[in-house]
Amino acid sequence: MKFAYPAGNSIDDLTPQQITLKIARHCPCTACGNCKGLHPSLGVHVVLDNNSTEEKSILNDLGQYGSDDEDETLPYLDICACGHGVSEHGANEIVIGSEEYRRRERYAIRIDENLQDVDKLLDFAYSDPDIESLRRRMTDAPLSIITPSHLAASPGKCL
Ligand SMILES: [Zn+2]
Ligand SMILES: [Zn+2]
Repeated sequence: MKFAYPAGNSIDDLTPQQITLKIARHCPCTACGNCKGLHPSLGVHVVLDNNSTEEKSILNDLGQYGSDDEDETLPYLDICACGHGVSEHGANEIVIGSEEYRRRERYAIRIDENLQDVDKLLDFAYSDPDIESLRRRMTDAPLSIITPSHLAASPGKCL
């Protein structure tokens, strides 16, 4: 099984679906409690969507010969190893409200930039203190206090 992950880090270049995936990657699952962010199951191969030639040679090593037509569009990763999708991983704009969504979007992109700097964009287990603190700030506001009418006030942040 093979899925794509958006390589771009510019809001203008990303489709809403790609942004959703980036947010979900860095948000804990609200449905199962012990998943820290959307990540692929074992055996799921995730590649960047920028046609990296490196990835192709890795695939060849795995014995997937004869498919030179790598242009076929891969589906984006949308299901986590925990069995839940992007909307359970904090990326449901209807649930969290659009302001909170924009906030998370900016954090998600910043975290991905950090990951890219250290060449870990496809390493879903990787983390470091910077990324940890960005993730914490990203999901700081508990969902329960976010209601559309109180978004601006954002009360009760105590983490
Ligand atoms: Zn889950
Ligand atoms: Zn999950």
